[in-house]
Amino acid sequence: MYPPKIGYVIPDNLSEAINFLKTHDDAKALAGGHSLIPMLKLRIIRPSYLVDITKLKELHYLNKEEKEYKLGATITHYEISKAQIPLLSEVASKIGDPQVRNMGTIGGSISQLDPSADYPAALLVLDAKVKIKGPSGERLEEFSSFDKDMFTPDLSQGEIVTEISIPVFPGYKYSYQKLERKAGDFAIVGVAVLIKTNGDEVEDFRVGVTGVNNKAYRSQIAEDMIKGKKINDEIIDKVAQEVANESNPTSDIRGSAEYKRKATKVMTKRAILDALKR
Ligand code: FAD
Repeated sequence: MYPPKIGYVIPDNLSEAINFLKTHDDAKALAGGHSLIPMLKLRIIRPSYLVDITKLKELHYLNKEEKEYKLGATITHYEISKAQIPLLSEVASKIGDPQVRNMGTIGGSISQLDPSADYPAALLVLDAKVKIKGPSGERLEEFSSFDKDMFTPDLSQGEIVTEISIPVFPGYKYSYQKLERKAGDFAIVGVAVLIKTNGDEVEDFRVGVTGVNNKAYRSQIAEDMIKGKKINDEIIDKVAQEVANESNPTSDIRGSAEYKRKATKVMTKRAILDALKR
């Protein structure tokens, strides 16, 4: 289907983009377009204008500082996949297909907040922060509170995500395990794990899950279950079971709720074992 008639605006700078979005309350920011354009074609949304933010240099950077990585909102999945950011680069490399990775951006993905998107599982375990600029200034939010619900980021009209920051986790091992129906698809379930060990004892453990709830979640109970303990098959099984117990999947074309809950357990085990091998 063809999209409806829309205006197309290329702002010269971020302030101009914010101003335009503020004064046209059904206008939408356009990043990679890989969620927005399909929604336009299906006529799920009918904005009056698209404000193209991909040409704004102030949104396109990827810096490693001493204690954190800073990613401008229009950095693409492909660029992240090549940046050797522990965990996040692995997640980016598993998003969609090459075309999606070349066009789609991290700012667009977290502003869309599809419940099966890959980044949220990792951004939760990495304690990511989101910088937002809008008509009333700038604010910094924890990703966990920015992610209010499915398709519901903490954004008001005129606000633009400008940066995602991620602390460095020295000495941690990591893995992202994604189960997909076919290559290039969204996750049936995706599990991100960060683990710090001392010999065979677990010092710290973080687990984030996407695809099997209305939004990505961490399991505090599972994380506490394994901290300070020696790793063995029994504890890994218990942790994975707890992570699955906290899922709340729905049955759809990607599988039944029961299948997805079982898959959550399997993918959690795989993520822990894969991380421990690194
Ligand atoms: P756009 O489509 O341009 O925008 C999406 C929404 O965010 C719009 O509402 C827009 O106004 C808003 N927006 C964009 N940038 C900003 C900003 N900086 N501040 C505020 N609002 C903003 N995703 C996955 O996670 N895993 C997958 O496996 C996967 N597979 C896919 C397969 C296909 C075939 C397609 C088409 C998409 C797939 N996606 C997948 C989604 C893809 O990652 C999208 O690129 C992403 O969700 C949206 O990013 P975008 O840059 O394309 O944003």
